[in-house]
Amino acid sequence: MAGKFYITTAIDYSNGEPHLGHAFEKIGADCIARYRRLRGQTVHFLMGMDEHGQKVLQSAEAAGLSPKDWVDHIAQSFVATWQELNISHTDFIRTTEQRHRTAVEELLRRIGANGHFYEGSYSGYYCVGCEAFKLDKDLEDGRCPEHPSREIKWVDEPNFFFRQSTFAPRLLELYDANPDFVRPRARMNEIRNIVAGGLQDTSVSRARLPWGIPWPGDPTHSVYVWFDAVINYLSATGFPEAGFEETWPADLHVIGPDIARFHAALWPAMLMAADLPVPKAVWSHGWMTFSGSRFSKSEGVQVSLREAIDRHGVDALRYFLLREIPWDANGNFNFDRFDGRYEAELADGYGNLSSRILAMITRYLGGKIPQSGETTSLDTEGETVVAEYRDAMDQHLLHLGGQAAWKLVTRANQFVEESAPWALHKTGDTARLEAVLASLSRALSRITQMAAPFLPSKAEEVWGALGMRESVQCAGWELVEQPRTGGLEVVKPTPLFPKPEKTS
Ligand SMILES: [Zn+2]
Repeated sequence: MAGKFYITTAIDYSNGEPHLGHAFEKIGADCIARYRRLRGQTVHFLMGMDEHGQKVLQSAEAAGLSPKDWVDHIAQSFVATWQELNISHTDFIRTTEQRHRTAVEELLRRIGANGHFYEGSYSGYYCVGCEAFKLDKDLEDGRCPEHPSREIKWVDEPNFFFRQSTFAPRLLELYDANPDFVRPRARMNEIRNIVAGGLQDTSVSRARLPWGIPWPGDPTHSVYVWFDAVINYLSATGFPEAGFEETWPADLHVIGPDIARFHAALWPAMLMAADLPVPKAVWSHGWMTFSGSRFSKSEGVQVSLREAIDRHGVDALRYFLLREIPWDANGNFNFDRFDGRYEAELADGYGNLSSRILAMITRYLGGKIPQSGETTSLDTEGETVVAEYRDAMDQHLLHLGGQAAWKLVTRANQFVEESAPWALHKTGDTARLEAVLASLSRALSRITQMAAPFLPSKAEEVWGALGMRESVQCAGWELVEQPRTGGLEVVKPTPLFPKPEKTS
């Protein structure tokens, strides 16, 4: 696997602080980005902030700040969170940046020049919470079901419309040619049905807003915030400057299911309308729930991100979320399950395995890993696990990738028990002892590389303790397939996952 991999996450809306729901999406995308680097690809990993729209303006007013000061404050808080969570994005875009405005203006110019906009007027309901027009059938008791606490506004104004309807046949061709354009497959089917049922032209401007991108050539309008926001993925490639095609099209847009339609229908149609290539794939992850309800700003956040990080540290949180909540489905956040996985899979699993192997190499072999090429059953099982991990991770099925890697943790811990290196040491069976510990060191090397996208800091610690010079992030995939540990000098690491004191 070589070449570039351009991955993006949803840009977050600047109307509140980052929460666990945001973190879940970014951690998942980061795991994919890190895995792709492990496979040797050049990864462009984009995240950012969606800073326009009426809702931002309202939040700024409520906080007594200018919109600019407000979005600066929110962006800072998001960036600090992504840093703390060890997210390895390579670019961070804010839709208030000039590079974004330049790209939006040029994309709109091209779509307009191709005749895909027309002026009309819109009258209907508008939910500021969604920043979206709503039909009667979208409302429940006269309110938006996503934002039941907000009043729905009646809007009647001239708008520019995008001829989305004319792109339905081309979108269906795209889906037919590429049935994995949206994953999971159920989401693809949903969107396909919507498009097959016929698309409506869509309003893409609003009467001039004090906080938005003015419509090119008609400053009495602003670009509709949704239309502006999706363009960020293109803006970050440097479009329309020469060389943007080296990054564009995106290989994967990671998004939540609520915006899957925008990414799978509207966005490709916009690009087709401007004669630009469409993204290669869209991944719609599931929702994280807490006791059955969704994490979101508008409907209340039940567990703070701080509380979740402080429970067992950043790496443990990353690991837990990626193992517990299937990356292609909904899942529940639960502290008891978190504590359980922490103890069983991290403290007693990977942590214990690492310290046992490194301690035995130190105690019995003076800290130097022997050059034993003898293939044990553990090596053979390691190969099977690596293939399973690779298949899952290539399809972005992160929970299955983690599950595969941890099979080897369990198996290696069993191998320690079965081969009892302490007994081999006692009886002086040096050849067998060396073969066993060399094989265990290869398993640990494999596990650590496979674990690194999930637990980047802890994996780095083990990697260093194994005596590896380069960072685990730079070690290539060949080493996962063919670990080379002979001759390395190990050190004992400090306990990786200390168990919390029991409070009873
Ligand atoms: Zn709404």
